[in-house]
Amino acid sequence: METSRRADYVIMGAGIAGLRAAIGLADKGRVIVITKEQLGESNTSYAQGGIAVALGGEEDVSAHLEDTVTAGDGLVNREAAKMLVEEGPLRVEELLQWGTGFDRHNGELMLTREGAHSRNRILHANGDATGAEIGRSLLAHARAIKSISLLEWTMCVDLLVEGDEVVGLTVLDHEGQLRVIRARAILLASGGAGQVYSDTTNPAVATGDGIAMAYRVGAEVSDMEFYQFHPTALSLPGVPRFLLSEALRGEGAYLRNSRGERFMDRYHALEELAPRDVVARAITREGMGTGGELLHVYLDMRHVQGVDLRKRFPSISAFLVQHGLDLSRDLIPVRPAAHYLMGGVKTDVNGKTSLKRLYAAGEAACSGVHGANRLASNSLLEGLVFGARAAEMMREEPEPAASAEFSANDSNSTFMAGNETNILLMELQRVMWQKAGLLRDASGLLEAQSALRQICSKLPGTSDRSSLELRNLHAIADMIVCSALAREESRGAHYRNDYPNRDDACFQKHSVLSKERRAVRFESD
Ligand SMILES: Cc1cc2nc3c(=O)[nH]c(=O)nc-3n(C[C@H](O)[C@H](O)[C@H](O)COP(=O)(O)OP(=O)(O)OC[C@H]3O[C@@H](n4cnc5c(N)ncnc54)[C@H](O)[C@@H]3O)c2cc1C
Repeated sequence: METSRRADYVIMGAGIAGLRAAIGLADKGRVIVITKEQLGESNTSYAQGGIAVALGGEEDVSAHLEDTVTAGDGLVNREAAKMLVEEGPLRVEELLQWGTGFDRHNGELMLTREGAHSRNRILHANGDATGAEIGRSLLAHARAIKSISLLEWTMCVDLLVEGDEVVGLTVLDHEGQLRVIRARAILLASGGAGQVYSDTTNPAVATGDGIAMAYRVGAEVSDMEFYQFHPTALSLPGVPRFLLSEALRGEGAYLRNSRGERFMDRYHALEELAPRDVVARAITREGMGTGGELLHVYLDMRHVQGVDLRKRFPSISAFLVQHGLDLSRDLIPVRPAAHYLMGGVKTDVNGKTSLKRLYAAGEAACSGVHGANRLASNSLLEGLVFGARAAEMMREEPEPAASAEFSANDSNSTFMAGNETNILLMELQRVMWQKAGLLRDASGLLEAQSALRQICSKLPGTSDRSSLELRNLHAIADMIVCSALAREESRGAHYRNDYPNRDDACFQKHSVLSKERRAVRFESD
């Protein structure tokens, strides 16, 4: 690659949001889609359960809106949620036209239900591999379009700002060289940041890079205290926290503690199908060891009759078999893991951030559509709907005025040698899990803040991928802790032991952070 490149549009990320946006821009100019690893390595590819969409007409759309608003615990931006549910059917129709093979029975699309949905509206593919199928079909469609270039093994490093506009970005290419790419508009579709916690369902690429990059150049970031923890990730020593979809509980799985007792009736009337945050906190309490360490509880499907579990959950079954476990025969050890970031770069309903020519969509963005807690299977839909909406707006961006050339050295990063990256990363993840995880309080969060300050003083400045990711994760951790400290209440996925109640008078608002103001402020929609 030459040291400096130009495109009309640059998209950071090749998950559902990035690919859908690229397709929407392709007839308007040259689009470069950048991805840190190979195409297909993204949260999108790991999505199991499905995509929520109201295909049953107006009543279904209204019910989907109400379910989304209820799950968001008082913080959903209703305008954004209305767009999500109303435009969802059209966007899913496009996916069908582009060849996405959702599961069917006698030719009809199969619809299942997950926690907190009032009716069956979840489409799935290959049983429990929905994201991989959607990603496959979007990628096939994008590959066939000449004006879209797909750049693999390339890491976006920093955004470049001229005056008050974002005009490009620096990337670390597959040979480790820093390059500049300029564009008329840039979309951050870089996904979540699960790697900020020691226990996560997210793949290694989920390091919050886009959010940290935007924050560094002054963009506003919102709702970072809201991290959804999935209640049931596989808990085996030395094995990644593989997700065991909520659909297992939808099919009748029980949760049992180490004494073999079911316990969810002590926590919620809906028992195993209670909202995710309730189940995750219940597991944390039930699975606590005598030394305060989180052990695990068990998922039990041994009693489930009339469902061929291997056929209904082929990917999950295959993964479990590799570890000597069988859903119909064994108790499966599970514990919660960080799963989905409701917060992100603050956008309006068209993906516009607070900086000119900079857009965000998907998990990296925060339009307020999920409020304080995402409704299950709404995030794939969000990527589709808001990826498409962002593309519509980006198309209207005028050509930038002729401007000075940037060199890769204009990056905001300073590069010095350092070799402690891995140890520092593990320390950061541990601190975040223990002090800013599922159950929080002021003293733990203050301890986290001081640990993060220590880690900051040791951050390496090298320009290799792992150091850059560590720097980004540190910024994300700092934003989560600051926002969690400021929100002195419990709401949705954010639970404070020292403020266990919801406080609408003070906090029915979104937290907003920006580098310029530093302190967290709270804003209404
Ligand atoms: C195990 C699992 C199961 C899930 N199940 C479901 C489900 O059933 N239904 C549902 O709706 N949601 C589910 N989710 C959530 C959902 O998958 C994600 O929220 C959604 O796919 C995010 O899409 P995205 O396009 O925003 O980001 P992603 O799909 O995560 O894509 C991010 C892209 O950005 C790239 N990237 C990141 N940083 C950089 C960088 N610095 N430079 C270049 N490229 C970069 C990555 O390489 C990747 O290509 C699940 C998530 C996980 C992890």
